[in-house]
Amino acid sequence: MLTEENIEDLVVQCCAGDEDAVRELADAAASDPGRVAPHHARLIAAGVFGRGEVYRGADEATTGELVRLADAADGVALGELLDCVANAHPVDAERAFRRWQLAEDVGVHTRDAGWELTPSGTRRDLLLGPAFALLPVDAEDIEAPEGTAGGPDGPPVFGTPSGEHCPWCGMELHAALDLPPGSAAARALGLTGPDHVRVLCCPRCTDFDIILSAYDGSGGARWLEHNVRPSFNGPTLDGWDPYPTRLVLGPARPDGGSGSAWHDGGSALGGHPDWIQDPDRPDCPLCGRAMVFASMNGGADLWGGEGCLYVFVDLDCRTGAVLYQQS
Ligand SMILES: [Zn+2]
Ligand SMILES: [Zn+2]
Repeated sequence: MLTEENIEDLVVQCCAGDEDAVRELADAAASDPGRVAPHHARLIAAGVFGRGEVYRGADEATTGELVRLADAADGVALGELLDCVANAHPVDAERAFRRWQLAEDVGVHTRDAGWELTPSGTRRDLLLGPAFALLPVDAEDIEAPEGTAGGPDGPPVFGTPSGEHCPWCGMELHAALDLPPGSAAARALGLTGPDHVRVLCCPRCTDFDIILSAYDGSGGARWLEHNVRPSFNGPTLDGWDPYPTRLVLGPARPDGGSGSAWHDGGSALGGHPDWIQDPDRPDCPLCGRAMVFASMNGGADLWGGEGCLYVFVDLDCRTGAVLYQQS
């Protein structure tokens, strides 16, 4: 049985970052919450959230503070705070979890509609703006002179070989989205910042799993170590070819409406994704937030076949994702 003095010592150690002390305090709180509760304010101030049981017996004010912190948290910290709230004042915890549950349900629907509520309840758009057509051009007809950015309007939005190679299959990676600052395509999307947005994909492996990449803002992009090689990415000896076509910026689509994944002429920059299968919006591999839809590049336009390559970005983290769907 711990004395008041023992509890006080544990609290001091917890506040100093001693994880063993947190475990011991959690055990104490679990068996006799009333003995730890008087110390909750200090524990919260010190950010001691590693064991939710510490907050058993929390009063309404303490729980309200934990809820407030959870609303502003993310990642590991959020998980820990949810544990803390779950253990805290039952009425207030139930109210908070009901609200979070609602937000989660709402989130599924709003993300499919191109926006979401952030943890603080503000709107975040998951689209870049109204859609523009992306028009196919034969690769042979578009090669820009070496060392140029592709002419006055920039390189093709889709399809330029990158010089980097796929670590899974060895094929040259291609730009699935190429938006130099000031290019016509960047301007069309209202991107006025200095970043060169660039997303990579593999002509072969993108058909089998999502491909994640990161760009440096000045024209470079790289394969991300977060990529998980699929168990199957095609027979080993077959004839995959580089994309025969590039996609260049076309006119604004009627009323800014989105592209079509099904028909030639359906490729689009901006707008909403037209999913062939279920919506599959990826999360940013670096920050975990839902990524922003950038473009859809139809197989009908790219290789005269079916399927569609969907490109997503996180402009804050400078990450990109490309995923493929077919019927
Ligand atoms: Zn590959
Ligand atoms: Zn991110």
